Amino acid sequence: MTIYADNAATTKMSRKSIEAMLPYMESDYGNPSSLHSAGQKAKEALEGAREQIAACIGCSPKEIYFTSCGSESDNQAIISAAAIGEKKGKKHIISTTFEHHAVLHTLEKLKKQGFEIELLDVHAHGNITAEQVEKAIRDDTCLVTVMYANNEIGSVLPVAEIGKVCRERGVLFHTDAVQAVGHIKIDVNEQNIDMLSLSAHKFHGPKGIGALYVKKGTPLTTIIEGGAQERGKRAGTENIPAVVGMAAALTEACGKIGENTAKLSAMRDRLIKGLSEIPHSALNGDPVNRLPANVNFCFEGIEGESLLLLLDAKGICASSGSACTSGSLDPSHVLLAIGRPHEIAHGSLRLSLSEENTEEEVDYMLTEIPKVVEYLRNMSPLWRDKVNGKKEFIL
Ligand SMILES: *Cc1c(COP(=O)(O)O)cnc(C)c1O
Repeated sequence: MTIYADNAATTKMSRKSIEAMLPYMESDYGNPSSLHSAGQKAKEALEGAREQIAACIGCSPKEIYFTSCGSESDNQAIISAAAIGEKKGKKHIISTTFEHHAVLHTLEKLKKQGFEIELLDVHAHGNITAEQVEKAIRDDTCLVTVMYANNEIGSVLPVAEIGKVCRERGVLFHTDAVQAVGHIKIDVNEQNIDMLSLSAHKFHGPKGIGALYVKKGTPLTTIIEGGAQERGKRAGTENIPAVVGMAAALTEACGKIGENTAKLSAMRDRLIKGLSEIPHSALNGDPVNRLPANVNFCFEGIEGESLLLLLDAKGICASSGSACTSGSLDPSHVLLAIGRPHEIAHGSLRLSLSEENTEEEVDYMLTEIPKVVEYLRNMSPLWRDKVNGKKEFIL
């Protein structure tokens, strides 16, 4: 049995998404910039996909720009907002300590260029409040960039409230919604969102394709220079198969949000309840405002890396945090941001489900994970010291 429980890292492509792509690889492979009929067919597919994606988040097709991934969308959104701010002499940017690195590293770069970056602290339950944002906004604030849902600990942020505050104060609001699009109902107008990043491979579409929603009237800065594709804002021949696959996957995902939320949150809650019974463990992230498919725990006295390898041997594909940071020995910046000490942050486990997971798989994980945690603890000298009272338990 192989259980794939790492859907926050990437998802399996849906059959509909694959089938939508095939004609644009096999027969309709024209370049949308070409004037001949093959090119025009590709152009129609491109604009059809733009309409489908716009419909899923409640914007106009003219407000959608295709990019190569969620990271590129984040980069372009933030750099554009910074350029708009700089023109007006506004160089203060508000974000949070637990953003994805596509946001944090872009902000670090801007800091070197003289921008003042203010990262809001995340409270112990792994969330922020709209009041925090409101208090931080100054006359020289040019951008608030706050993620919609956290990729590691699953917290869903109060985006509509933050959007309202930003709109009232006339500050641009970008949200990295890569973990939310296709999983949570989004309406960019209702929620006062000015810019939003999304990525197909997080909702059963292909890898290497993303989009950026930009509210009409917000000037975008071009990052990839070249031809006039994407109304001159993003050069490069459009990846038509991927764009079409993304639109098909998103339309499918948005049509199933209600059904999937019910199914997934029931499995999630069963996992959380079962894993909470492991002594000296703690749930990470917001217990209430949480992605329906995210489970994230710290287990005291173990190394996340060893846990993952042993779980893999039992057929369970999980993660200790984000796929982007695994491979480095630093503990997750997200777990540190919610106040977990280094020692505890090292012993984390993220299970991220999809609608393909089953109740039987949940049962299997609930029997195997406690066994592996106990096995690793029994091998640990540090754990023995804690059990013998020579060292204090933290959790
Ligand atoms: C996956 C992810 C990204 C990056 O998206 P890519 O398409 O892989 O570049 C950005 N932000 C969040 C929250 C993510 O989960």
